[in-house]
Amino acid sequence: MYNIAIDGPAGAGKSTIAKKVAKELSFVYVDTGAMFRSMALFMLRNEISLEDVDAVAKACEEINITISYIDGEQQVILNGENVSGLIRTEQVGNAASKIAVYAPVRTKLLELQRELASKENVIMDGRDIGTAVLPNAQTKIYLTASSKERARRRVEQLALAGTSADFDEVEADIIKRDEQDMNREIAPLRQAEDATLIDSSDMGIDEVVAAIIDCYRKNQ
Ligand code: C5P
Repeated sequence: MYNIAIDGPAGAGKSTIAKKVAKELSFVYVDTGAMFRSMALFMLRNEISLEDVDAVAKACEEINITISYIDGEQQVILNGENVSGLIRTEQVGNAASKIAVYAPVRTKLLELQRELASKENVIMDGRDIGTAVLPNAQTKIYLTASSKERARRRVEQLALAGTSADFDEVEADIIKRDEQDMNREIAPLRQAEDATLIDSSDMGIDEVVAAIIDCYRKNQ
């Protein structure tokens, strides 16, 4: 199977880009952040303290996560319920980042992620795909952008959805999440040594997609 790993900080555009690359190459897109978000949703719903590693570990034993596809769109199924429409809030994203530091949470998802990549040609996005989940991925991309540009895109996205947000607050949130993801002990966010760095601050979506497909062709 051919595996493309795409890692980078929150709001760098990984999912938008990965979806387009998947379409062009007829690959399956796997969004691993959605899996962490679904686990976080379970913790929030059951009022499990995100700071309590033992309680989170115990809850992991009650969680079953699978994924399926509807019209090519990944759906996350949490204990039989499709929660894909419930995990896109900032609250769930921040909670995901908090529980993603714990080994039981990561171990639980690692197996599912590797299994998916062993069965299909995938482009998988996350924080540790090139470094930990798929170290043998044939193409690895580290996609980033300045925190200002990422905040600008996020505010724009929220405005389109009819929600107004304060730019400085959104940027502070993004910086906090980066810090959490980059400084944790297990599988921190970092560029794999053999990954290609793409800074999309001044690039359009199609330009980034073309750059990744170019890397893929060179590595074929
Ligand atoms: O990418 P997304 O914002 O959906 O991810 C939510 C959180 O899940 C991230 O901030 C990160 O802490 C965690 N995550 C992770 N490893 C991945 C994907 C996501 O730790 N492979």
